Order: sequence, then structure tokens, then C-alpha cells
Amino acid sequence: MTSVSKVVLVTGASRGIGRAIALKMGSLGYTVALNCRTSVEQAQEVAAEIKRQGAEADVFVADVGNAEDVKNMLDAIRNKLGSLSVLVNNAGVVRDNILLRMKDDEWEDVLKSDLSSAFYCTREAIRDMTRAKWGRVICISSVVGLIGNAGQSNYAAAKAGLIGFAKSVAREYGAKGITANVVAPGFIETDMTRQLGDRYREEFLRQVPLKRAGKPEDIANLVAFLASDEASYITGQVIAVDGGMVMQ
Ligand code: NAP
Repeated sequence: MTSVSKVVLVTGASRGIGRAIALKMGSLGYTVALNCRTSVEQAQEVAAEIKRQGAEADVFVADVGNAEDVKNMLDAIRNKLGSLSVLVNNAGVVRDNILLRMKDDEWEDVLKSDLSSAFYCTREAIRDMTRAKWGRVICISSVVGLIGNAGQSNYAAAKAGLIGFAKSVAREYGAKGITANVVAPGFIETDMTRQLGDRYREEFLRQVPLKRAGKPEDIANLVAFLASDEASYITGQVIAVDGGMVMQ
């Protein structure tokens, strides 16, 4: 892949998968806008690491589940770094519960951070991409969005929603040189999966032909490819990075 000077926004870039994506894009020469909501120091450390590698990076604090926050963030990114070329909708939370006990706020928090966030960010970013007649929208869904998961009806609904959303963006903006794709990670070692406990982990890994968990870098490598010119004829796709857990 060639070195580039495009601007990429990675939401939820302070930790885990988003952090790995931000570092990878920085290493390829992208100017990286890192977003997070609360873990600002961690995001700043990631930005500092990218700068040490010689690329430009800055942190933009915003709740991506809030439309006003997202609008202000995109204005700030344009002012500081320039127009966006690549958007990675990665931010997400889990608030697991069985359906009978699921509270309204558990449902709404997950839908806001995992699905509405992609709508708000893409609606803003697509302006820059349309103007440039080039753009990449990459949504981080989950295998749970493909096959469901007991105790995660909120998360599964949000992650499945991302797939329909990205396919619609792909159809609506293909003629403008913009692609939209979905990456569906399986079990990846991050804070999100560390909180699940050993029994859940073993149960999950039992279903994985490669018999191991993935690393955030496994997702970052695919995102970097989907953002590149080499991937210009790939759009509207859902690609699982899951050790073979879900074979479509
Ligand atoms: P993580 O370690 O928990 O990190 C989540 C990131 O998202 C943090 O940077 C967090 O920032 C940010 N975030 C959450 N809600 C936000 C909001 N409303 N506004 C701004 N930032 C927000 O999670 P991860 O495991 O890296 O997961 C990243 C993505 O991959 C998520 O969408 C997740 O659903 C998906 N995924 C993960 C796995 C897995 O096995 N880990 C599997 C499938 C899919 P703050 O700390 O500042 O809130």
C-alpha cells in the first residue's frame, strides 16, 4: 500500500480496535483524527505515538451518539486537519441483559453509541467526500450482528443495523467515488471482551476454527486495505475477521 496524506477519522480511537486502526493509518501516512468520549489521556497517548512515527494526529472529544457533538467535532476536524477522506465508524459499547430484564436506557445507550453514531458521523463526512468525489466509509460491526447472541439483543440490533446502513450508503454514493463497507470482528482481545469473563470466552472460542482470539491489529489491517486505492472496486460488503467463526 502506498503512503498517503489523506485525513481519516477513527471514532473510539483511545483503546482496543480503534487504537490499532489509528496507529495503522498513522503508520501509512494518513493524518489521523482520533475521537473518544471520556478516555482522553489514552487517546492523547495514541496521538503522540502517531506523531512520533512522523504523521499528523489530533484528539477530538465528542459523544458520537449525540448529533450536535458530532457536527461540532467535524467542524473542528475540518478547521484543524482539513476535509475528511476516510471515516471509520468504530466507537461502540455493550450493555448486556436478557430481553425480559433489558431496561430502556440499556437499549438506547447501545443504539446511540453503536448505530446512531455511524449515521451522525457519516452524514457529516459524506459532504467532504462528495465534494472530493472520493471517500471511504468503514463500519465496525460484529459477528453478533450476523448471527445474534443471547443477552445482546440491543447490541445485535445495532450491529445488524450498521450493515443495512452501510449497504445503503454504498448504493447512494457509489457514483460519487465513495465506497462503504463493513468489518465484522469475532472475538478480539480488548477491554470490551476482557470484561466478559473466562466462561464466555471459552464458549466463544469453542466456535472458532482457528482456536484463538483475534488481535486489534487483525481488524486494523483489513480497514487499511479497504481504505486504500487497491480496494476501489469493493463496496457494500460485509467481511468477517473472526477466525472462521461465521462462514457466510
Ligand atoms: P473498547 O476497547 O471498549 O473501546 C471502545 C472505544 O469506543 C473507546 O475508545 C471508547 O471511548 C469509544 N466510545 C464508546 N462509546 C462512545 C461514544 N458514544 N462516543 C465516543 N466514543 C465512544 O472496544 P473494542 O473492543 O475496541 O471495540 C471497538 C468496536 O469493535 C466496537 O464497535 C465493538 O462493538 C466492535 N467489536 C468488538 C469486538 C471485540 O471482540 N472486541 C468484536 C466485535 C465487534 P471512551 O473510553 O472515551 O468512551
